[in-house]
Amino acid sequence: SPNSGFGESFCLDFFPGQVEKGLRRQKLFTFSGRILVALSGGKDPLALRFELSRLGYDVTGLHLDLGIPGSSEVARACVERFCARHDLDLLVKEMAAEGLAIPLVKERIRRPICSACGKIKRHYFNKVALDEGYTVLATGHNLDDEIARLFSNTIRWDIAYLSDQGPALEAEEGHGGFARKVKPLWRLSEFETANYAFLRGIDYHYAPCPYSKGASFTFHKKIWADIEEHMPGKKLDIYQAFLERGRPVFAAAAQSQNIELKPCAVCSMPTSQD
Ligand code: SF4
Repeated sequence: SPNSGFGESFCLDFFPGQVEKGLRRQKLFTFSGRILVALSGGKDPLALRFELSRLGYDVTGLHLDLGIPGSSEVARACVERFCARHDLDLLVKEMAAEGLAIPLVKERIRRPICSACGKIKRHYFNKVALDEGYTVLATGHNLDDEIARLFSNTIRWDIAYLSDQGPALEAEEGHGGFARKVKPLWRLSEFETANYAFLRGIDYHYAPCPYSKGASFTFHKKIWADIEEHMPGKKLDIYQAFLERGRPVFAAAAQSQNIELKPCAVCSMPTSQD
């Protein structure tokens, strides 16, 4: 119908517009930067990877093959197919080759595997970005991810995390160094990104990890979906207001109380807990 045609072209314009606004407003990177995008196989990073190339940015994808039977092969094949189809650069790093295939790690540790797996992933994304000299590491986190994280940080009044949350995490020297990390989809909801991925024919696969206990933050996302339904646009408003007016207050508090995110003893990524 003429209406759905209008909806389609609106969405095809809206998504790139919000990505560019997100890049500009938070000064995430420019056309001269070399961007490394973390590709898990999910729709958000694939849509991001696709869009950044389409806009003319210098982008390379990085996929970590975690070596989890029944899940990792599917994710990897999906990323490889996507990059081949759109003629996009891709690096693949196999955790098995590092002696860190996730099933093996799971056997060796007593803690829940997801926290170790998350640390391993962050470590290697960071390492490749630094070793290969990328300007930034970009992830597919969207507005719903950000608002759920903000909510979770807020109900714990975690000053360290509240002082540090945002679409850009600056590079740091020391402890092996941290690459600058950015989230260009911070203005776009999960729904808007899914719509865009669908309209662009981006074929993604989600083979749930056998170790997954269900998506985290699901309950929080439901609360925010209700808020958004009653007050459209509120999620983005609140998140932007946090960046402009909330975060600086927490950053000042963290500084005056000498609270900082310390590098994890295991992988040297920032954490306030270890
Ligand atoms: Fe790793 Fe699977 Fe846990 Fe995700 S669900 S963090 S892939 S072990």
